[in-house]
Amino acid sequence: MTIPQDPDLCIDLHCHSTASDGALSPAALVERAAGHGVSHLSLTDHDTVAGLAEAESAARECGVVLIPGVELSCLWKSRTIHIVGLDFDPEAPDFRRALQGQNENRWARARMIAERLGKLGIDDLLGKATEVAGGDVPGRPHFAAVLTEAGVVRNAAQAFKRYLGNGKTGDVKAYWPELSEVVRWINEAGGIAVLAHPRKYQLTATKLRELTADFRRAGGRAIEVSTSGQSSGDLGFLAELCRKEKLLASQGSDFHFPGAPWCELGRIMKMPDGLEPVWHSFRQPILRPAPV
Ligand code: MN
Ligand code: MN
Ligand code: MN
Repeated sequence: MTIPQDPDLCIDLHCHSTASDGALSPAALVERAAGHGVSHLSLTDHDTVAGLAEAESAARECGVVLIPGVELSCLWKSRTIHIVGLDFDPEAPDFRRALQGQNENRWARARMIAERLGKLGIDDLLGKATEVAGGDVPGRPHFAAVLTEAGVVRNAAQAFKRYLGNGKTGDVKAYWPELSEVVRWINEAGGIAVLAHPRKYQLTATKLRELTADFRRAGGRAIEVSTSGQSSGDLGFLAELCRKEKLLASQGSDFHFPGAPWCELGRIMKMPDGLEPVWHSFRQPILRPAPV
């Protein structure tokens, strides 16, 4: 791995490609990251490492350092939580098997959504949603697109309001594994488990502290302190939580598609001082070059 000679490293450790629910192919994503000055990137698609090989060759072309990544869904006290895995061995057989299991969970959920929405009388709903998802497992936004296309609803917002939103017929929970299990997978593959976007779960401060403590006890090592769409208050709160739980600090844009003004590759609020960056603990640590 080459360490860039630019003293201002730009590190983005959370984003998505078409290998999950992102809009750009892994190669296009890496090119965009390079264009925005990103020096170190981790592609963290949902429950898959299918995009990593393409991203890796694009990264080599663009002079970006790619760190293996993934974002895994799991359960903590019956809530869905996201754990980012960084710097693991993507070839580890047990890890591959675990990802296969996650993929099967997603398909089981997609089939259930299609079945529940069967009464709408749309021919081959699952097939159409799969097509919208580019052949991948369709999620609720893909079903929303099919419902809109079929004229059942006016737009995606209405699709969610009537059929797919929380508590509606098509709101099917996936059968995710427990948080401790997912953290173990990442650790056994030699990686670092990171609690993703902690402010997105709409937990009270007390609950979030409880989650963070449980995560650390399970073997989790880092927490995302800086992600897109946070207030500076969130940043301060998470930095404090990070220090208190003696976790490593991570950062990432959680980029999914171009054009969202609140979210761009490499555009990340600077983390408060006094935190230990997660990238210092990578197998090949990302360090600023020593001044000459
Ligand atoms: Mn996503
Ligand atoms: Mn997430
Ligand atoms: Mn994400």
